[in-house]
Amino acid sequence: MITLKSYLRGEWVVGQGEPVTLVNPTTGEPVAETSTRGIDFGPVVAHARDVGGPALRALSFAERGKILKALSKAIHASRDELIEASILNAGTTRSDAKFDVDGASGTLAYYASLGKKLGDARHLAEDSEQLTQGARFHGRHIWVPLQGVAVHVNAFNFPAWGIAEKAAVALLAGVPVITKPATSTALLSFRMMEKLVESGALPPGALQLVAGSAGNLLEHLGPQDALAFTGSADTGRKLRGLDNVLSSSTRVNVEADSLNAAVLCADPSDDTYQMFLRDVAKEVTQKTGQKCTATRRVFVHASLIDRVQADLAERLDQITVGDPSLSEVRMGPLANAQQLADYRAGVAKLEASGARVVYGSATEVSLVGADAQKGYFVSPLVLRADAPAEAAAVHAHEVFGPCTTLMPWDDADELVSLVARGGGGLVASVYGDDRDLLPKLVLGIAPYHGRVLLGTKKVADQAISPGLVLPSCVHGGPGRAGGGEELGGERGLRFYMQRCAVQGDRALLDKFFG
Ligand code: NAP
Repeated sequence: MITLKSYLRGEWVVGQGEPVTLVNPTTGEPVAETSTRGIDFGPVVAHARDVGGPALRALSFAERGKILKALSKAIHASRDELIEASILNAGTTRSDAKFDVDGASGTLAYYASLGKKLGDARHLAEDSEQLTQGARFHGRHIWVPLQGVAVHVNAFNFPAWGIAEKAAVALLAGVPVITKPATSTALLSFRMMEKLVESGALPPGALQLVAGSAGNLLEHLGPQDALAFTGSADTGRKLRGLDNVLSSSTRVNVEADSLNAAVLCADPSDDTYQMFLRDVAKEVTQKTGQKCTATRRVFVHASLIDRVQADLAERLDQITVGDPSLSEVRMGPLANAQQLADYRAGVAKLEASGARVVYGSATEVSLVGADAQKGYFVSPLVLRADAPAEAAAVHAHEVFGPCTTLMPWDDADELVSLVARGGGGLVASVYGDDRDLLPKLVLGIAPYHGRVLLGTKKVADQAISPGLVLPSCVHGGPGRAGGGEELGGERGLRFYMQRCAVQGDRALLDKFFG
């Protein structure tokens, strides 16, 4: 049994009392344990603010970028070991594990390059503007790092990438991080943190790991701190409503549930149609559908829905489910027993709302090399709701697993309003080449999304699937998705920085801040 440790104030620490057990979702067997009980996080927050913050702020963007590059290399150098930890405790296939681990090193590398590009500066500056009739008096908005700590609370589904994507941005902005992975899959996070510490690249206090429950950590957040959360909408609501967070206006970014939509407007003879099928099949099954960006709702022109159902079934027939360590297995189990229970309850909710299962089963699955009684396995599942406007739960309840619902559409305005019923999502994808319809659809659904992928003939063999979050584009969405925004290149840094309008002599503003 592995005992996970938290990395706090420069030391590896184990909590007291009864630990929480982490299991292998393929077998249900215990693989690790962890506890943060009894740890007072006050001194941990102080260490970040008093030691990590000054150390990072003393560095330029380029110097911070060099740190990120070293961290990226440390993860890449331990890739195989980290992949094994993911298979063991998160039930991922090798390919799904790479998605997480390479996503972590890739995002750090991206922000390392951005740091190099931003160079010797320690703040960001916007263009200056003349404020009065006289030519000298100007205003220039500058961005400076917050003086506090960034606390990151992550979901179970990306134990590596989730930590790295948030930390890369905060560290480059000059703000120290305390990161907390979800307990159930924290083995990979712990192993990754070991590698980051061993790299020797981290300034003291710059990055601390809480391997388990947050204890009293969030009680210490104040006005110069930032809290970035990924997980369920319920927890998000709780955290942003904490008394100290509200009273000190602590910055909060929430990435929560999302009923991501795919819309098909292409003809089956088009390459775009194949792209659509490829993407939907991938988004349903990659990481066993446990991705915040996975496609949950699929809108297909009514004339094509039977065809799509059959073609999608053919693709999903290729997905072997079972022990994710086997090379022939394409989809592993759900991450834990709670997720399995939530998944089944969620599918029942969709069915009660008028959707019927047209592919797979929520209760039965045939497995390769695994025991369905021990692991948390499910099959890929496709539901169909022929009266989408009436299927309320399909637009309101995110089933976090390998499941999607097919729905017909007839009219573009109706389609836009159906997509919008998701109440705000991370990403939508639109497949087709109709030059009149595409801009109408994109402009119609854009207000409800952080990102829209346009799948057209010219990019059919080049575009990545919509579930892949790239550091150069923003990740987040309005409403149900949490109202947050992360990444997006330089845009992401601003969450960790204060914008201040400096007014004065143009020459001085240019000299000091230009
Ligand atoms: P969760 O239960 O909300 O947990 C997310 C994180 O919050 C975990 O690190 C958890 O810690 C922590 N947490 C829970 N209660 C807390 C509290 N009172 N104070 C401080 N931290 C607290 O979500 P999850 O189990 O990871 O995922 C469940 C659902 O989240 C999914 O079904 C899905 O709907 C949604 N999700 C959304 C995204 C996205 O990016 N939009 C990604 C993943 C999941 P412990 O693990 O220690 O309890």
